[in-house]
Amino acid sequence: MKIIVTGGCGFIGSHFIDLIIDNYNVLNIDKMTYASSNYTNEKYKNYSNYKFINKDINDSSLSNFIDSGDIIVNFAAESHVDNSIKNPNVFIQTNVNGVQNLLNCSRNKVKLFIQISTDEVYGSLNVDSPSSKENDILCPSSPYSASKCAAEMLCIAEHKTFNTPIIITRSSNNYGPRQNKEKLIPLFIDNLMKNKSVPVYGNGNNIRNWIHVNDNCLAIKKIIENGNIGEIYNIGGDIEIKNIDLTRFLLDYFSKDDSYLNFVTDRLGHDFRYSLNSDKIKQLGWKCYIDFKNGIKDTIKWYENNKNWR
Ligand code: NAD
Repeated sequence: MKIIVTGGCGFIGSHFIDLIIDNYNVLNIDKMTYASSNYTNEKYKNYSNYKFINKDINDSSLSNFIDSGDIIVNFAAESHVDNSIKNPNVFIQTNVNGVQNLLNCSRNKVKLFIQISTDEVYGSLNVDSPSSKENDILCPSSPYSASKCAAEMLCIAEHKTFNTPIIITRSSNNYGPRQNKEKLIPLFIDNLMKNKSVPVYGNGNNIRNWIHVNDNCLAIKKIIENGNIGEIYNIGGDIEIKNIDLTRFLLDYFSKDDSYLNFVTDRLGHDFRYSLNSDKIKQLGWKCYIDFKNGIKDTIKWYENNKNWR
């Protein structure tokens, strides 16, 4: 069976390919934006069950590469909220138009189309709000999260109108090796390794739910094997932590004091808290395996051993 992984040269997609390569034929479709790396192509270039196409998910010729019975997992996206505030248009082009093109190319062919979405679609929670459930209303705050909401709506409409077998996943913030240094954890690790301060948005009290990338990939694999068509699955980590507490954990690891904290002007529209209720995916038999503190320490060690990572 063939799994088409779009965005397989990005952070999560590359780990997902690591997870499935021994059991499936893999076609990786990636436009190779600034966020991509050649890691996966180098690693699997001699595997007969691995193929790569350098194309945009907006390319209508992709239908030529999608065969009857294929599974598509769409990771391809512009993924950095700060970039979406500076330049929303590219987020609409990839995250919305690109998803519609993939749906057009997949119709009446695929066995399953998984759209990788995000906890950010729920918008901001208060400190005491219950964790978000799959049926809660969507209330995006950034052009990024709005574009991911739009993509979800297109997928749901596709399922209702054309009976295309769609499943949507909404995961919390991922961390782990090979993430682009624009994102909080690798940026802070990199700065501290270089004896530089770390830029903390606002007062640092914003709360995030973190999941190790390997646990997210296991959940997606579990959904391929046992998920129900037409469903949405939250995939949350076991920990919620204030940005400032996460930052202090990193400072402690590097034996740095508070003089390395650089509080900067808050992100526009910065959501206060995300929190996912993951009961539904747990009912499929999935759980998180990686303890947050151990996962972060391993991630730091990976960056220490790979100082030239982007
Ligand atoms: P990433 O930015 O690391 O990788 C994205 C990949 O998509 C890159 O390889 C890039 O080249 C490719 N890409 C971008 N535009 C493309 C296009 N038009 N056509 C083909 N390829 C294109 O992103 P990530 O962190 O790996 O996120 C993967 C998915 O997971 C995204 O859909 C994102 O919205 C979602 N998500 C990420 C997180 C997180 O914490 N990283 C959390 C929840 C959901």
